[in-house]
Amino acid sequence: MTDIIIVGAGTAGLSAAIYGVRAAKSVLVFESEVYGGQIVNTPEIENYPGIKNISGYEFATNLYEQATELGAQVKFEKVIKIEDRGAEKTVVTDQGSYPCKSVILATGAKNRPLGVERETELVGAGISYCATCDGAFFRGKDVAVNGGGNTALEDAIYLSNFCNKVYLIHRRDAFRGEEKLVQALKNKENVVFVLNSTIKELLGEDRLSGVIVQDKITGEEKEIAINGLFVAIGQIPENSAFEAQVELDEKGYISAPESCKTKSAGIFVAGDCRTKNVRQLATAASDGAIAALAACEYLV
Ligand code: NAP
Repeated sequence: MTDIIIVGAGTAGLSAAIYGVRAAKSVLVFESEVYGGQIVNTPEIENYPGIKNISGYEFATNLYEQATELGAQVKFEKVIKIEDRGAEKTVVTDQGSYPCKSVILATGAKNRPLGVERETELVGAGISYCATCDGAFFRGKDVAVNGGGNTALEDAIYLSNFCNKVYLIHRRDAFRGEEKLVQALKNKENVVFVLNSTIKELLGEDRLSGVIVQDKITGEEKEIAINGLFVAIGQIPENSAFEAQVELDEKGYISAPESCKTKSAGIFVAGDCRTKNVRQLATAASDGAIAALAACEYLV
């Protein structure tokens, strides 16, 4: 019987794994996609204390290696549900059932879709949610980034280094992301700000050839010809599989205070999937440590 099963191998999950194994607990981490979570797609991290500059991929790889070399086991299986029988719990995946004493949910969040007609059909044919993964296909071309948070700003900076023109489309005229990034974009000659604007329509037959945006103030619509659109409008959580054991807020995040304790004894939550105001790499790592130490205390 595993001491701690962690659902999700992102920053929060792997940080929890490090703290769990260092407390001499047996730790098994389940991940349904790739390790590292959302940070894998960030080209450059400059705000993680103690590390001046690192790519998201390198950061995630370091974290994965640190956790596994210390003794955490990682299995790439999708967790379907948890059965909670008090002191003994079972984590059921698409490949098996695993008994454990405690669980840490670190499921993160997935990209929020634009919600415009034909979006799904054009994914991979001009629409992408990951500039670092797909940006290279658009070298020398005109692209747009939609969003006003750090992801959108960083994506726009990254793409502006090799794309012909980058339109930054945002629904307001103020940005949620860091001012330093906004200033960096303002200094780029090939970046065009399209503010107070929302994407109404996706153009093109087999591939995306442009978008129609509407100015929210004037109501005016205009066409922007682009080869690629990078959607970076935030994330949505995916926690419905755990509804029986934990309380979800109106947006689907798992309700828990800074202690990372859920309403079920022995089930903890860490990182972006938890109700919180600040979702950063540093707070994900912090949650991982708190949740793992809380699990260790519970196991005593
Ligand atoms: P975010 O901060 O939640 O920003 C989402 C952006 O998308 C907001 O500007 C929002 O507009 C806009 N938006 C939301 N729904 C929309 C819709 N339906 N249509 C059009 N626009 C929409 O998301 P994020 O940029 O992915 O960042 C997530 C978290 O990760 C943040 O805490 C961020 O700081 C962090 N992050 C950190 C780093 C780093 O530290 N290097 C890098 C990337 C991300 P409004 O502003 O109008 O709400």
